[in-house]
Order: sequence, then structure tokens, then C-alpha cells
Amino acid sequence: MKYISTRTDKKLLGFKEVTLKGLASDGGLYVPNTWKEINLNLIGKDYSFEKTAYETIRCFIGKDIEKNVLKKIIKKSYSTFRDKEITTLKSLDNKNFLLELFNGPTLAFKDIALQFLGNTFEMFLKSNKKKLTIIGATSGDTGSAAIDAVKNNKFADIFILHPYGRVSDFQRKQMTTVNSSNVFNIGLKGTFDDCQNIIKKLFRDNELNKTLNLGSINSINWTRIMAQITYYIYAYNKVMKLTGNNNISFSVPTGNFGDAYAGYIAKKKFKIPINKLIVATNKNNILDRFFRTGTYKIDKVHSTISPSMDIQIASNFERLLYDVNNCDGNNVSELMYSFNDKGKIKVNKEYFGVTKNSFTSFSINEKETKQRIKDTYNDFNLVIDPHTAVGLEASSKYLKEQQEGIVVTLATAHPSKFSKSVRNILGFDPDLPLGYKNIFDLEEKYQVIDPSYNSIKNYILKKVTK
Ligand SMILES: *Cc1c(COP(=O)(O)O)cnc(C)c1O
Repeated sequence: MKYISTRTDKKLLGFKEVTLKGLASDGGLYVPNTWKEINLNLIGKDYSFEKTAYETIRCFIGKDIEKNVLKKIIKKSYSTFRDKEITTLKSLDNKNFLLELFNGPTLAFKDIALQFLGNTFEMFLKSNKKKLTIIGATSGDTGSAAIDAVKNNKFADIFILHPYGRVSDFQRKQMTTVNSSNVFNIGLKGTFDDCQNIIKKLFRDNELNKTLNLGSINSINWTRIMAQITYYIYAYNKVMKLTGNNNISFSVPTGNFGDAYAGYIAKKKFKIPINKLIVATNKNNILDRFFRTGTYKIDKVHSTISPSMDIQIASNFERLLYDVNNCDGNNVSELMYSFNDKGKIKVNKEYFGVTKNSFTSFSINEKETKQRIKDTYNDFNLVIDPHTAVGLEASSKYLKEQQEGIVVTLATAHPSKFSKSVRNILGFDPDLPLGYKNIFDLEEKYQVIDPSYNSIKNYILKKVTK
């Protein structure tokens, strides 16, 4: 399988190049050029998570990873998870399931893709002469998951930008207490969107790219998306088997649109008959407004109790735009440039209609999120985190409208990552899984920097290890 940029560059690349490069030099994102190799029938199969991952991922890698090596990478990546099943399916009532995706080392769903990406990087880099400099932005959870995945990698340095003061204390400490010489944390005095914009600009910087070999761990990296398709297929099969009902939708707490877009691929390209992907946003509702009106219009960023979704520019929206525009990269490029200028994209009626076949959306406010956490505790004796609560509240709104079908809500983080919010709402601290007790005693290491492009660039050039 070959990959192409969503913008003007028509050069085709293989899986290895796309994994190591992250963002295309024209500013676009990589997507598969054709989907014709995908003809697997995974529906109804009683496969384990690892087996589903293997069958899914092998469609995308061509000859760049040998079969037995891929099996080993998958095994290694998921051996760090606390639950043998990797993702835990919980039934709340006969219409609502939760799929807990936070059994990995950093307690958020991002471990599922990043443990895999980290091991894939290591395998590819062993044979590369030049070190990789991984740069990434985090709204809270990507940073720690990425750092955990590459902290022992001798062939890479990692620089993570987080919006200073806008992530939870636990999230920050998970990143800044990792004591590895190849890990650098930057607290940017700005928002996540500021962090993401600087990262994208670094990738387009020819001078920097000549000196450093830049790699990405954000969901602009195709491999992140690819590794998330697995659990949609795995959960669909499991729920169908348990209930005998095949009217199954997924509610996806959404920020950068990577996770929801992975679900779209499961539905559209793997032909998993998912009914609807429910895009659940917090007050930062650019995507909800888009799926209601067809206009993608930027607004200012609001701080919420679900900070990993405090995002206005949803990078992976560009991949959806490319798909519904019949893969016309020139058109997508124009739309993205005009978005940069005017902060707005209006998608034509026909293409907007195509997105409506797969997606529906809700924006959940803070009061509803808190009430959902309370109700879930009272009704099911279950403590959920604020991101999961946004997803569950959207499920509830959807089921009220639809009356039938089953919704699987993706539980994206362990509640102890957001213990302060949970304590304010429920009056007690969620239990921390074993192995995390001492994180508040460890020494932190990070640099606070103003949101200036050159300051960040110079810091990276100064610190990078040779
Ligand atoms: C990153 C994150 C999300 C949003 O996922 P996207 O792929 O960016 O849409 C939701 N919940 C949690 C806990 C996250 O860390």
C-alpha cells in the first residue's frame, strides 16, 4: 500500500517513510492512496485483541514489516497493559456499553496506538544512520503516552510541548518526572492549538529539516490512526456476539478527531457495519457545529474539566475532508489555506451529506458532564473520568432521539488522571492503579517557554543529543 499527502504533493510513499516522517512537507497529512488491498472480512470473527490488531494492521504496511516481526511488535506493545484483554468491555444496561481503553501504562487510550508506534519506530530506526528527533504537542495525554513509548529508545530524542497550566497536575507529572536523557518537556505559555501550530511549522521548516530528522507522535502520524482501528472492529464483534443485535453505534469523546476518524475507516473502508459514530465534544465544539451545519469555523479555546479535548483545530478533520472531496488534494489545499486565512471552511452540500451518513454529534457542557459523573456513580457504582462522561452523556442524548440500537462509549481515560475534578464532583479521590502511587513525590524537569517559534526552535537545536 502506498500513501499520499492530502494536499498538492502527488509523491507516493511507503509505510516506513510515512511513519518516520509524520507530516507531509506540503503541510498535508498522509492517507492511503488506494484502499483496494483491503478486502478482509473481520465481521463475526471471534479474534483476540492482538489477532484483530494483526489482521487490521497488516493491510496497511505492505512489505515494510515482516509478518513475524509485526506479530512480535504487537505482542510487545500490549504486554504492558494491565488487562489481558487489552480493552475491557463493560455493560451498563441493555443499551449502553463502555469500552475501557485506559489499561495501558499512562492510563489513557493513547497508549494503544503509541506503544505500537514506539516499538515500530525502534524497529525502523535500528537500521537508520541518523537519530530521529520526535516533536509533539499534547493537550495532556499524548505527551505521557509518547514519552513512555520512547523513553528507552537509543535512536530518538523526544520534545513535548504542553500548554502550560492547562493540563492536570497528574498529567504534567506523568511527563515531567520521567528521568531519561532523551526526554525534553516544554511548558508553552499558550493553548494546545498554539503548541500544535508551532509543531506543524517546525515540520515545514526546510532549514531545520536539513539538520534534524523530524518525527511525529501526534495523530497527524498515520500509524496512530491505523492502530486505533483495531478496537472498533474488536468491540463491534464482541457486542454483536453478546447481544445478537447488530445496530451498534460508537460514542467517541473527541478533540483532534483522530479517534473518531479511525472509527470512520473501520466503517467505510473495512465495511464494519457501525451504525453511527457519535462525535462527542465538550464546550470546544467546532466539530459538533460542523456536523450540524456543514461549516467548520474556528472559535476561541475554552478551558474545561476535560482538558484533553480543549482543541479548536481538529487536525484529522483534513483527512475526512480529503475523503469526501473524492481525494482532490488541490481542493483540500485551497480549503485549508482559506481556513488559515479566514478561520472558516464551508463544505458543499453533497459532500456534507456524505459525512452525515457516518457521523452525528453533540456538544456537552460542564454541568451535564458533572451530572453524568454523579449519575454513573449512583446508578452503576462506577467512577468515570470527565472525557468518558462527555461520551456517555452524548450516548444518552443519541439514544433519547433514536429509541433503538446499542451504543458503545469509548472510555478514554482512567478517572485518577483527573482526580481533582472527580473529587470536586463525587467528594472522594478515585483509586489509583498500582505503580502510580509515588508520582507526586518525584522530581519534575521541564522548561517554560513563551509561544515564540524561534525560542522553541532554538531550544530544540540546543538540547538535541547527537
Ligand atoms: C486525546 C484524548 C481525547 C480526544 O481524542 P482525539 O483523537 O484527539 O479526538 C479524548 N479523551 C482523552 C482522555 C484523550 O486523551
